[in-house]
Amino acid sequence: MVIIMCFSLTAPAAQVDASSRVTVVYKGKTKSFGGKKTYAYVNNSKIKVAKQPIFLKNGCYMGPVNKLFKKSSLKVTVKSSGNTLTMQYRSNVIVLKNGSRNVTVNGEKSRMSAPAMQVTYPSGKTKWAVPLKSVCSRLGITYKLKNGVIKMKGAVNSATTSSSSSSSNSSAENGQITLVLDAGHGGMDSGATGNGYREKTMTLSILLGAKRMFDNDSRFKVYYTRTSDTYPSLTDRSNLANNYDADLFVSIHINSASASAHGTETLYNSSRNTVTAKNGLTSRELATYIQKSVVSTTGFTNRGLKNRTDLSVLNRTKMPACLIEYGFISNSTEARQMNANATRYGQELYQAIVGYLQSEGKL
Ligand SMILES: [Zn+2]
Repeated sequence: MVIIMCFSLTAPAAQVDASSRVTVVYKGKTKSFGGKKTYAYVNNSKIKVAKQPIFLKNGCYMGPVNKLFKKSSLKVTVKSSGNTLTMQYRSNVIVLKNGSRNVTVNGEKSRMSAPAMQVTYPSGKTKWAVPLKSVCSRLGITYKLKNGVIKMKGAVNSATTSSSSSSSNSSAENGQITLVLDAGHGGMDSGATGNGYREKTMTLSILLGAKRMFDNDSRFKVYYTRTSDTYPSLTDRSNLANNYDADLFVSIHINSASASAHGTETLYNSSRNTVTAKNGLTSRELATYIQKSVVSTTGFTNRGLKNRTDLSVLNRTKMPACLIEYGFISNSTEARQMNANATRYGQELYQAIVGYLQSEGKL
């Protein structure tokens, strides 16, 4: 199901334990800050930061960059040079300065709620600590503070590829087809639910079935918006495809309506069909081929192509793109069948994409 979602990530008032303080050396002076936290969660993994505790500055939780961003599953690229800290997550690049609230985000300046700080912890190590909420929101990482616990979430595999044969991002240079496969929803966004099933789980199973096939096909370089139960934002998903200049973008979803609704449909954006055409391929052609293949995979009623001009991933992607709605989770028969056959659906999606590219003379 495709719905337009808006999350409020406003943190509740921070609970400060006055007896729990963090002493650091900052700009040559010893400073004491409250709000000490010795751990946070990144993609549901507990990250201990006892030696570089999180502390409060200007009402913002300040956390160590290396432990929470670089070495965690987020795998943010971090470069530190003198007073300057550069962080890259997927297509977003931010540049911070020690002691400054100013930040450059993809070349645009803005102001954070607290400064980036190079601090020396009691262990003697000097590290970058940054306002977590301000930095996460700019990098496209979800930040939540709930019941005093900090939880950060983002895509684990920002550069998961099915091929190790080349480090180039350009399909033109290495002859590979670059593909982005998107498993709808994930993490805190379950998508549609019904008959005991969750859309996010089914879409991931289908994607992993396809991945198993693409992993053994060096003609493709495939990027996955997620390969586990995480929630990349909608812009993360289109950014991934645009950043890697993908040749095709295919999004996997499961529909939902009444218990009697049934069938398979594929969505594409007719208003973007011409501007996103690439190497002679278009969204409409892709969607047409995929729809025919997926109907034969599911055996469900053919509901045909649907033109949707209001969906983020079809609006922001700059290449031929389509979004498959395999069947209805609200329909008990279809839900049961989709759940039982998700891996096969993925394998046959791989065949469908190969078939489409062969029919167009691209493979
Ligand atoms: Zn959906």
